[in-house]
Amino acid sequence: MATAQPAPLNDATRAEITEEKFRKLLATVKANRPGDDPAIIRKAWLYGMEHHEGQLRASGEPYVMHPLEVAQVLAEMKLDSTAIAAGLLHDAVEDTPVTTEDITERFGEQVAHIVEGVTKIDKIQFANREDRQAENVRKMLLAMVSDVRVVLIKLADRLHNMRTLQHLPADRQQAIARETLDIYAPLAHRMGMGKLRGELEDLAFRYVDPVAYEQVSRAVEARREEGEHFLSEVEILLNQRLRENNIEARVEWRIKRLFSIYQKTQNQHVSLDQVYDLLAIRVITKTVQDCYAVFGLIHSIWRPMPGRIKDFIAMPRPNLYQSLHTTVMGEGGHQFEVQIRTEEMHRVAEEGIAAHWKYKASGEPISPRDEQRLTWVRQMVEWQREMSDPNEFLSTLKIDLYPEEVYTFTPKGKVVVLPQDATPVDFAYSIHTEVGHTCVGAKVNGRMAPLRTKLRNGDIVEVVTQNGHRPSRDWLTFAKSSRARNKIKHWLHEHERERAIETGKKLLDREARKYKVQLSKVTDADYARAASECGLATASDLLAAIGLGKQSARQVLNKLSPGLAAQTAEAEPAEAKPGAMSDAVKRVHMRGSDSLLVEGQDELLVYRARCCNPIRGEEIIGYVTRGKGVAVHARSCPNVQNLLYESDRRINVEWAGSPAADRRTTYPVKLTVYCDDRTGMLKELTAIISDDGTNIRGVDSRSAPGGGEAIVEFVLEAEDMPHLNRIVNGLRRVPGVRDVQRAHKI
Ligand code: MN
Repeated sequence: MATAQPAPLNDATRAEITEEKFRKLLATVKANRPGDDPAIIRKAWLYGMEHHEGQLRASGEPYVMHPLEVAQVLAEMKLDSTAIAAGLLHDAVEDTPVTTEDITERFGEQVAHIVEGVTKIDKIQFANREDRQAENVRKMLLAMVSDVRVVLIKLADRLHNMRTLQHLPADRQQAIARETLDIYAPLAHRMGMGKLRGELEDLAFRYVDPVAYEQVSRAVEARREEGEHFLSEVEILLNQRLRENNIEARVEWRIKRLFSIYQKTQNQHVSLDQVYDLLAIRVITKTVQDCYAVFGLIHSIWRPMPGRIKDFIAMPRPNLYQSLHTTVMGEGGHQFEVQIRTEEMHRVAEEGIAAHWKYKASGEPISPRDEQRLTWVRQMVEWQREMSDPNEFLSTLKIDLYPEEVYTFTPKGKVVVLPQDATPVDFAYSIHTEVGHTCVGAKVNGRMAPLRTKLRNGDIVEVVTQNGHRPSRDWLTFAKSSRARNKIKHWLHEHERERAIETGKKLLDREARKYKVQLSKVTDADYARAASECGLATASDLLAAIGLGKQSARQVLNKLSPGLAAQTAEAEPAEAKPGAMSDAVKRVHMRGSDSLLVEGQDELLVYRARCCNPIRGEEIIGYVTRGKGVAVHARSCPNVQNLLYESDRRINVEWAGSPAADRRTTYPVKLTVYCDDRTGMLKELTAIISDDGTNIRGVDSRSAPGGGEAIVEFVLEAEDMPHLNRIVNGLRRVPGVRDVQRAHKI
């Protein structure tokens, strides 16, 4: 909201006003938190003055007035000096060249962290007015702040912006007021901050619905004088009775807030004249016991209205609100509501979460007890719902049961709710299937990020697409949402079938040329018959089966052109193997050192998968890769789960020959040893390995950052699992070794 216009120079009056306000801030801090050191507040003030210099608000005031007023609100909430300093700096990163690093350097991590949180929220545009969206935004706001002071500053910021809204153009007024009603007032309510919520609502009401505001305020004005007169008489009578009964308590009265009156007329479908509890009395006692005593006393003076008694002391509201409520009938038919609570309950009702904050001395680390309370408050904040309909209850339940959600944004500010650890791919599919299929990358918070990046709360994600780009099977290893996973699988399935049909056609064609069969003469009926003989439905299924290696091209050719049967059977009897896939995987080859036995296939190119490099003795599993042969993975390899979703490409494999006969075959294995950083360590480790007669191919050793720990990496030649286990156990026994891990990728 800052505009960079030259400020009027030498405006002595203005400087004086500013100075005066700052003195008031310090006085408030001193009154509310006498133990706090105001130095950081002074420093933040001067720093803000320097950097917002020359910026003006829409009102024409120097910009610094805004952070100063925000800090004043925070001081009145009795927040600590860290929060007040952060309040003074809350727009510095957004609106001036100051960076988070600058703030860390001058004011420390905590202040910087809070300012960063506020800046992040400021970047979000709550474009969408949809109710559900508002709900998501509120949840997201809470999910993305790790320090509750961020929300408190944001609320104070909004309060001051609302108080000065008259200076903005009408369309901005509308948008900001709407957002205040949709997002910030409910947020204040959830945090139990009744006073702040009330003020935000009344300020926003005026702009959001000027006509209704006029009506309500006129109706209230018309009844104000009479009401005030009535209430002051009630106050006198009540005070007298309290004294007679020796109850120490103070009495407050008020005309209710305009927006809450308006809501009542809307929710209960009544006219303004029928809103009976326009008038409210509050009795604040010293003890809970006195609350109930006052409760009885009031009912002995005035007649209670049936169905209007509520005991929120025995049953506190989820936002910690406690009070006794009753509505009684006074003289002349005046109904009024009475709230009875202790001082402590009153503070919680007015200040909510801030009430919990104020007893913590500034700078002091939060005690585990406080931490727990704040966590609990935040959870409460999550739970708190006006459960007006069962759907809402269900969604509440869902949030509680699956807290692992992450709230992200489109660049336009629409909230996208994804499962935890979701990636840009999930994000892309949640926007549109086609966006998902064609996504090639993403900008997360303005920076290019890999598709497998795990998104975090508050991330702004912009998907980069490219026409003609296609999903990759690899995506299944990191896509989290069921929507994305299903779409990817569906696409792969469809397109793999297409490719399989094409491959099948080519293989069949090649066989046909080889045996001089004219495929052009084969009829559709021949195809249909051959398909059904193979237990398949259509000619396409038949071709796909060839392409996928489930049927051999030669066998199918025999079925299509039966005359060939005898001739080919004699020519190459080996081809008749059941379930052969050697047509699809033509390059048959064995590698000496990587020899593996593939069940039913002794002539396939078989290789150890690079992702897990299994070694002899390890449980393995084979996967037919098109055109490349069989990749052998360790059963424990994380890729296996995804690769094997196509179960027909999975084959059983085992290690060829006996280990004894194959003694000279070794497999490179990489081991990472985490150990104390001491002299002689490397020598001892190396000795363990070489004493076993094991070859070491490479060693790399380095000190871990932070000191004290070293990381040693060996690449050695292992014969099999027992051999490897022997080495690992030996290394683990070396004094000072903390852990030994096998790195599967070499
Ligand atoms: Mn601001």
